[in-house]
Amino acid sequence: MSTLEIRDLKVSVKLPEGELKPILYGVDLTVDSGSTHAIMGPNGSGKSTLAYSIAGHPKYEITGGSVTLDGADVLAMSVDERARAGLFLAMQYPVEVPGVSVANFLRTAKTAIDGEAPKLRTWGGELRGAMQRLQMDPAFAQRNVNEGFSGGEKKRHEIVQLELLKPKIAILDETDSGLDVDALRVVSEGVNRVRDTGDTGVLLITHYTRILRYIKPDFVHVFVAGRIVEQGGPELADKLEAEGYERYAAGAGSAR
Ligand code: ADP
Ligand code: MG
Ligand code: MG
Repeated sequence: MSTLEIRDLKVSVKLPEGELKPILYGVDLTVDSGSTHAIMGPNGSGKSTLAYSIAGHPKYEITGGSVTLDGADVLAMSVDERARAGLFLAMQYPVEVPGVSVANFLRTAKTAIDGEAPKLRTWGGELRGAMQRLQMDPAFAQRNVNEGFSGGEKKRHEIVQLELLKPKIAILDETDSGLDVDALRVVSEGVNRVRDTGDTGVLLITHYTRILRYIKPDFVHVFVAGRIVEQGGPELADKLEAEGYERYAAGAGSAR
């Protein structure tokens, strides 16, 4: 089993003038492989900041706390090292990679993470199978990564990566945003397949409760103004759906 441990994580975003703007005010979270945690919160509460900080985006400065994966100091690792250690981030806004085909991108990523090239004999089949399960046209393998992809195609491609790379911990940032109901179902089924292997812990970041009808979280964390303000089981998502985030707003500014 693998464990991602986030302790009292404090993060600021680096502003162009070199100033720091605090976004996360001390986040505690433990994610084990095989379990699914939903982080739910309003826009601007710092959910993507949390995801990017764990993945090592240079725009963010860690000002306190720790992140470890099976005891290893994640914050001391380069972005590549984090990926090789078993961390995976599906970004809210996946970026285009001009001139690099999906097939090449996936093979390169797989090689980098495993430390050896996937076996030619089996790789083609694995790739086709993963794309088929996400209901992606095989022709997509020859397209440039995310270039001209629709919102749904980008998210399907993220889940193809997830299935092929088999990370220890997957952070999925608003994987549900912009998906129609069919794409949402296909993408959710992909996440569930990976989760059900028992080898991957899922940190599902979302603004809406909709995706939680398809992906059942073991734990729900309510995230407001850079902090976790309430935690519970799946029933907490139903409460949020009914009551929204407003009732947390009053206490959001107070110290904890
Ligand atoms: P969420 O993903 O929950 O919507 P984000 O992590 O994207 O929230 O953003 C958290 C906060 O950080 C927001 O208030 C946002 O405006 C602020 N922020 C992010 N990047 C910058 C930046 N470059 N300059 C100023 N504020 C920023
Ligand atoms: Mg947002
Ligand atoms: Mg976000």
